[in-house]
Amino acid sequence: QLSQRLATVGQFVPQGARVADIGSDHAYLPANLALNQRISYAVAGEVVKGPFENAQHEIQKLALTALVQARLADGLAAIQPADRIDTITIAGMGGPLIRHILEQGSAQLAGVKRLVLQPNVGEATVRDWLAAHQFKLVAERILAEDGHTYEILVADHVAEPVSYTATETLFGPFLLAEKSPVFREKWQHERQRAQMAVSQMQQAKVVPAEHLAAVQTKINIIEGVLADVGK
Ligand code: SAM
Repeated sequence: QLSQRLATVGQFVPQGARVADIGSDHAYLPANLALNQRISYAVAGEVVKGPFENAQHEIQKLALTALVQARLADGLAAIQPADRIDTITIAGMGGPLIRHILEQGSAQLAGVKRLVLQPNVGEATVRDWLAAHQFKLVAERILAEDGHTYEILVADHVAEPVSYTATETLFGPFLLAEKSPVFREKWQHERQRAQMAVSQMQQAKVVPAEHLAAVQTKINIIEGVLADVGK
């Protein structure tokens, strides 16, 4: 049984896909997709030996060695041309690390049609990377589980340029259009944190004015987004 978070990532893997799950740890996601006949092949990439061995163990235990391969490698280096990977999933890491993995792996991205990404934090930096590399968001989800809020970003490679406004990049174009209760809670909380940061900066007195202004601007943007749905 997958967590709701990983199950949601899995929902956006196309039927019959050839998947690389990077930072797979126990390979729960590719194993589950393989068991449910949702994919035709998967690579479970891990850079750390312990999690790599967890993945190997899980794949052997479930008799999935013909369908899922565990590989010890850094980021997209786990992908080989013969794998013909068309979908990459990266879940449970910070946005900057996901961005770095994608950035380092441009050679392996050539045949990739879909990315399903679940950054724990720093979603905006991931959206920035997607737009700059012609990956267009086709769906987004936000969900709360075990006291955390998670965003799932689904993007397809397109021929035309992709661009998002600063507000869309920060909040997510689909999440912004939907403004679900979980979304509102997340941004109410972010606003509170920013307000606390402002009062601390004001007390400290030595904080540069532009720093303070940047946080104040963020608060104003959040308030603008939350305004029409009630605070
Ligand atoms: N994807 C699973 C999930 O969402 O439940 C596991 C997430 S776990 C918190 C993050 C995993 O990413 C760790 O096992 C870590 O070793 C792996 N990782 C971190 N950087 C990596 C990289 N550059 N290449 C491959 N794996 C990486």
